[in-house]
Amino acid sequence: MSQTDFSSLPLSADLLKNLESLGYESMTPIQAQALPHVLSGKDLIGQAKTGSGKTAAFGLGLLSRLDGDLYQVQSLVLCPTRELADQVAKQIRKLARTIPNIKVLTLCGGVPMGPQIGSLESGAHIVVGTPGRIEDHLRRGRLKLKGVKTLVLDEADRMLEMGFQDTLEKIVEQIPNNRQTLLFSATYPKEIQSVANRIMDRPELIKVESTHDDLSIQQHFYQIETKEERFDAVRLLLLEHRPISTLIFCNTKREAQELSDRLKQTGFSVAALHGDLDQRDRDQTLIKFSNKSVAVLVATDVASRGLDIDSVDAVINYHIAQENEIHTHRIGRTGRAGAEGRAFSLYNSKEHYKVAQLGLYLDRDIVSERLPAANLLKTTPNQAAMATLKIDGGKKHKLRPGDILGALTGEKGIAGADVGKIDLADNWAYVAVSRTEVKAALKKLSEGKLKGRSFRVRKL
Ligand code: AMP
Repeated sequence: MSQTDFSSLPLSADLLKNLESLGYESMTPIQAQALPHVLSGKDLIGQAKTGSGKTAAFGLGLLSRLDGDLYQVQSLVLCPTRELADQVAKQIRKLARTIPNIKVLTLCGGVPMGPQIGSLESGAHIVVGTPGRIEDHLRRGRLKLKGVKTLVLDEADRMLEMGFQDTLEKIVEQIPNNRQTLLFSATYPKEIQSVANRIMDRPELIKVESTHDDLSIQQHFYQIETKEERFDAVRLLLLEHRPISTLIFCNTKREAQELSDRLKQTGFSVAALHGDLDQRDRDQTLIKFSNKSVAVLVATDVASRGLDIDSVDAVINYHIAQENEIHTHRIGRTGRAGAEGRAFSLYNSKEHYKVAQLGLYLDRDIVSERLPAANLLKTTPNQAAMATLKIDGGKKHKLRPGDILGALTGEKGIAGADVGKIDLADNWAYVAVSRTEVKAALKKLSEGKLKGRSFRVRKL
């Protein structure tokens, strides 16, 4: 019997037989690492993506604690979107098919309440749903969570990104403290850590390592001479690597604005961030960059200090930084939370001494690499994946992320996967939607109602 045999786990004979019939021959890495802890009742944070087999990792856990004769909700699984909730419920039903009479109910926004209320009245053992709708049912007293033994937060990073933090915490308050809490997330930003600190009890941390070292940042250096070469180098690197999000550092405000203007002229999705812009412009620029409606942000060190940006795919140093610590700080914006990161630094012969210093500091030889061939300059830059819609209503109008998500994805709406980050301010809300769905999303939001009211909506 090997370490990855399901039969090495304390699972019932029924569950084991079912796994065999499903063709699950051995455990996936996340299952092999997580299941022993999950089955022993511990809290667990699993860093894993869809496709890793994480659903079975928590599904088997909650099924093994389930009492089929007890008609109350014993497991709650929270997911960011209806699509994921449907997928998770389907997999749990498959895993549970040898246990008699287990009811798995999905409760998601964007669909009518009526049938959900009916299903809740007839009882369910496992509820899988999106936070907004679950909270709605809780508030109306239709869903009771006092019997919940296992709470699962699936794609927790995505739920926080969509602004569900307050809603999640309200839901968790309704669940007994002696529960088991399992949190899965593709990335592990600080927001997840702080939520985990509040709602989990000494969680085990599990990460499935990929073959290369995720945490390392690949650094590349290029020596150029003229200002034109420097500008073309940026374009070539962007066109060759096509990162979804790139942060470019400049040493001065003027340089940042100039580079941003020129990149825009050559077709890039770009914005500048520096101290000469007013606060409102800076806020909107940041929102658009962090929700992926702007692909490239050109910033000064000062403006980027304390920026709340999770992780970018690439950092470009338009000029090599004045100090080694600043260099390290700049490139630390990429390759965070297990993501892969790249840093490109440009320097000329006058800046060569800084590169030599940096080489000593990093204890490595720095050599200038060759830039991609110039014919790449003829290709078309990537457009940003998303676009931002601004709604003239916010927290003061009691709008919650779930209301916006529900309005967008409800009847004949757009898919949950096409909704990105939702940022709520007092009087405004910003929601990112896939660029291809802008028209449909605008129509849904401006023709539909939010909290029974119409709000003005426009594309930023
Ligand atoms: P997930 O990452 O949970 O969405 O799972 C991805 C897919 O892998 C699903 O279709 C599962 O049915 C399948 N799967 C999960 N665990 C195993 C396993 N141990 N062996 C084979 N297939 C699996």
